[in-house]
Amino acid sequence: MSLLETSNPSFTRAEVVRIAAERFGLEGTAVDLGSERDQTFLIEGARDSAVMKIANIGQDPALLDLERGAIDHVVRVDPSLPVARPRGEAVLVDGPDGHHNVRLFERVHGHAAGPELGEGAVFDFAATHARLNLALRSFFHAAAGRERLWDLAQARGVLPLLEGIADAGRREIAQRVVERFEQRVAPRWHALRLQVVHGDFQLENVLLDECDRIAGIVDFGDCGYTSQAGDLAIALASLMLGRSKEDVFRIGRIAIDGYTSQFPLEPVELELLGDLTAVRLAMLVAITRWRARRYPDNAEYLLSWDDDLWSLLELFDRLGPDTVALELGAARHPAATGELRARRSRVMGALLTPLSYARPVHPVRGRGVWLYDADGRRLLDAYNNVPVVGHCHPRVTEAVVDQTRRLNSHSRYLCQPLVELAERLLTTMPPNAELDTVMLVNSGSEANDIAWRIATAVTGASGAIVTEHAYHGVTDTTARLSSDGWPAGYHPDDVARIAPCGSGVSVAEDVERALRELNGLAATFVDCAFTSDGIWTPSDDDLATLATHTRAAGGLLVADEVQAGHGRLGERLWAFAHYGLEPDFVTLGKPMGNGYPVAALITRRELVERAPLAGNMFSTFGGNPVAARAALAVLDVLDDERIIDRSADVGARLHAALRSLRAPEIVAVRGRGLIAGVELTKSSLAARLVDRLRDDGVLIGRTGKDGNVLKIRPPLVFSGEHVELLTAALERALAAEA
Ligand code: PMP
Repeated sequence: MSLLETSNPSFTRAEVVRIAAERFGLEGTAVDLGSERDQTFLIEGARDSAVMKIANIGQDPALLDLERGAIDHVVRVDPSLPVARPRGEAVLVDGPDGHHNVRLFERVHGHAAGPELGEGAVFDFAATHARLNLALRSFFHAAAGRERLWDLAQARGVLPLLEGIADAGRREIAQRVVERFEQRVAPRWHALRLQVVHGDFQLENVLLDECDRIAGIVDFGDCGYTSQAGDLAIALASLMLGRSKEDVFRIGRIAIDGYTSQFPLEPVELELLGDLTAVRLAMLVAITRWRARRYPDNAEYLLSWDDDLWSLLELFDRLGPDTVALELGAARHPAATGELRARRSRVMGALLTPLSYARPVHPVRGRGVWLYDADGRRLLDAYNNVPVVGHCHPRVTEAVVDQTRRLNSHSRYLCQPLVELAERLLTTMPPNAELDTVMLVNSGSEANDIAWRIATAVTGASGAIVTEHAYHGVTDTTARLSSDGWPAGYHPDDVARIAPCGSGVSVAEDVERALRELNGLAATFVDCAFTSDGIWTPSDDDLATLATHTRAAGGLLVADEVQAGHGRLGERLWAFAHYGLEPDFVTLGKPMGNGYPVAALITRRELVERAPLAGNMFSTFGGNPVAARAALAVLDVLDDERIIDRSADVGARLHAALRSLRAPEIVAVRGRGLIAGVELTKSSLAARLVDRLRDDGVLIGRTGKDGNVLKIRPPLVFSGEHVELLTAALERALAAEA
């Protein structure tokens, strides 16, 4: 408690004037600025002025050296930070109680601020604070770890001081806060980022210019090695103080925005920020009360914020630490699954597709091929193709976050990631196909829709060929092309269907029949994995026939790679390449951004130029920089982790394992790479198996015209061990049927 015990020095103004003149050569008057444990004066001369700090005798000289080192470091690392710089070296001055260290600092002009500070200024204040901590990140000093009175890590040290709080209710609140800190924060203290920080970045220690921006940061006297989130909590306490109840957390959140605009917080820091702020408040009331009783002369200064401190502490106490943390931006706990289901149904139910599985899945986190549900249960994802390089791949996540922090705009401005992505995609197209033009959009539907508009414009025809149970999108046009969702009895005149494979007639005959149904062909749309048709692998000849007949009829060929692309079939990036097709349009989506919405249409300049929409296409979010960065990251990861080669091997194991299943209910196993369809005798059986697997922790789906085909289509980072888990679960599910 030595720091607590030391009293402020008691130099008179006349002595201060003399010290300034004799030791620093500065002639002027002295104005006492007040201080918690030192003496601080403004020395104002005719031509020059400065601030003099007289340390108390308990002050460890090593800490003064630390303070000086920290300021010098900040000035070196980020010279634009407005820290009040020392003038010359410290001197020792004799006082009645011993030697005092006396330092002169440059005077910063500006005004002090309190709870009237506006949002913009609060944001700036916190952003500057974060920059200061960023600059200090690389600083260290042997004395930085010394025990400091105001270090939040020392919170328990104030417990004995709480005895002096007369009001029992308030005393209990402060005790609760410190005890909670011991329970919730202390055990995780070393999970927080620790570094040298300012230690007392509060409104009192900054001066603002006429625009309320920080003109000077003063008083590094509490600087030391501690939690940087705790340092933010010190600032938050100061910014929230004296605000109305409605404003407290709003201002807190804006301050956190400002801070994180420069120095993002980690989830555990956000989670504990409420406790850190509360304990700062408790320390403030405890220490200032104690000192005020001990040094009544300084009581007015020490207790100037007492009422506001208590009302803030009382508010925190009433709300409880979890609510405070939420108010300050900590991640929400997941709602109970049943409750969320009811809410979803109320607000989205009528339009949105139903939830998958009899027992819906409520995942809150993903990693690789695993999903983790709200109850902490792990589910093997053998269904989702969007997270192609695995759920939450760090490369993609970081690309998205990084670009989000830099800029997210649109394609009317020059943007390097967009151009790079387009160039990169074009290099993956077949060399002779002349696919040289990319349009970045938001969804597979949009890509197919634009392909259709170009195809109809160029051909002058309005007919389309699709497979029997195709899916190409959700827009008006693409829904017409999506035979899988046609209501009973609905069949648009200008769309003809062909069998994906093995309908009893040859492909040539089938296509010729389809063409006869149409009044001219604009385009044939084909998903080369035939996913919604039930997953098929026709022969190269069959698809070549489809392409030749399409062209002979004057139509164009659209390879819809939204499902089948990005390596789904193994070995190659694009499914059409497996069949040696040279499409006129390639549409991409789903896995393209590993979950970040991005899609593309790739076609020939010559086709585009013949369509009236040439040079006239714009989609606000289509090809925004963040989307482009996500898509580039996906391509990078596919390359770096050799995912497509691996998925061919794992796919082969998957198909072999599925074929080895002995069950009379299995009619066929189809597919290629990491898409597999297991056709069963009955759709009701397929539905039951899918639910059984879900209950067993493995996610798959169903597809096909009759819904009797198990759809297995995992993230491509699926490996041999996952194949084993999946097939074992499938075996168990089949056995349970027997
Ligand atoms: N084409 C195919 C083959 C698809 O599977 C899908 C989506 N399931 C789409 C197009 C439409 O893509 P989106 O949902 O991004 O509009």
